[in-house]
Amino acid sequence: MTTSDLHTISTSDPGLGTNARIEEIRAAFPILQERVHGHQLVYLDNASTTQKPFAVINRIREYYEHENSNVHRGVHSLSQIATEEYESARSTLKEFVGARTTSEIVFTRGTTEAINLVASSFAKPELGEGDEILLTRMEHHSNIVPWQMACEETGATLRVIPIDDDGTLIYEEFERLLSERTRILALTHVSNTLGTVNPVKRMIRDAHGLNIPVLIDGAQAVPHMPVDVIDLDCDFYCFSGHKMFGPTGIGVLYGKEALLDAMRPYQGGGDMIESVSFERTTYNELPHKFEAGTPNIVGALGLAAAVEYLREIGFDLIREHERNLLVYARERLSQIEGIRFIGDSAHRAAVVSVLLGSTHPYDVGTILDRMGIAVRTGHHCTQPLMRHYGIPGTVRASFAFYNTLEEIDSLVEALQRASSVLS
Ligand code: PMP
Repeated sequence: MTTSDLHTISTSDPGLGTNARIEEIRAAFPILQERVHGHQLVYLDNASTTQKPFAVINRIREYYEHENSNVHRGVHSLSQIATEEYESARSTLKEFVGARTTSEIVFTRGTTEAINLVASSFAKPELGEGDEILLTRMEHHSNIVPWQMACEETGATLRVIPIDDDGTLIYEEFERLLSERTRILALTHVSNTLGTVNPVKRMIRDAHGLNIPVLIDGAQAVPHMPVDVIDLDCDFYCFSGHKMFGPTGIGVLYGKEALLDAMRPYQGGGDMIESVSFERTTYNELPHKFEAGTPNIVGALGLAAAVEYLREIGFDLIREHERNLLVYARERLSQIEGIRFIGDSAHRAAVVSVLLGSTHPYDVGTILDRMGIAVRTGHHCTQPLMRHYGIPGTVRASFAFYNTLEEIDSLVEALQRASSVLS
């Protein structure tokens, strides 16, 4: 597909991916109208956090204006409304990932807390000397450090599936590393730095062949593709609201009911108990056993609004448009002299990591910011991956369905400018 083909798709296709539809979508995200250093904002840092549509912003406002109260505790009307809305948000999230019951949907602060919960309450009590936890080279720090902490306390060891230079997992190495010593396989569905989409379904099947449970870090998958936890058959699936057009401070841990049921609580406090005495405390039923204290009620409502919004747009349009963005970005960027792509896996989400000659990513990012373009520079919380490539960091452009081909043109122009200024 050529550059002009792609422009044609974006401007004249009467179906999905039309410019008019994308413009309509952009109008639903007020921040996209902002100006930065006198330029129209070009927001290409969606893997860090996504922007929020009016549907989410208005839901938060409506809650505080009309419904604010604490959940699960009051007989008064507002408390009942807040409880119903919070539990209804849980149902929306259950549908979103295709879980069997709302007992399997635990609200957390985000992906990080969800992984810590599983490392602490599921893995740690079973771990000992000689046991292994299997990760990949491309994990985010939040899917490394909690396991490392569990290993430090129990004498277990981390094993790491290597990648090739394209940023694809080496499957034979994965098969070799899976063993009767493996207590859990924890891996990312989509790499935040490379965009690689891992073959998680096949890996889960292979791990289950040896009765090894699997946790999937879905932080970078849920904004881009439909996820069905029953189809994947994963044991745990984690994601963050703020990376899927919802609020910060809210996320989800999906876990198979039988596993969650057998796990000890993560934190103690209000709401997670059935009864308390100084002699003995019994715990609440799922999922409340894992939600100690007043939850992020408004966060859950905002996240449910984001899910509804995503449903309205539909993953068909999202996937089609983001694929066009990715193909176009690769093609246009490759015209820049001295550019080096970090990660080139055959299966990718709309993320491009690059280096520009011998320039430092931070300097490039600073110049781009002066031109109103927001990209992320640095190690993207994947230092072991940076070590694999022998680089300190990259310049990363990560796309969402509201980005346009014209924004990619602006990015390319700005990178060319940065390249000539810095060299
Ligand atoms: N995993 C991946 C793949 C991520 O990209 C991120 C965020 N960059 C996280 C985990 C952590 O998410 P959060 O900070 O929302 O907990």
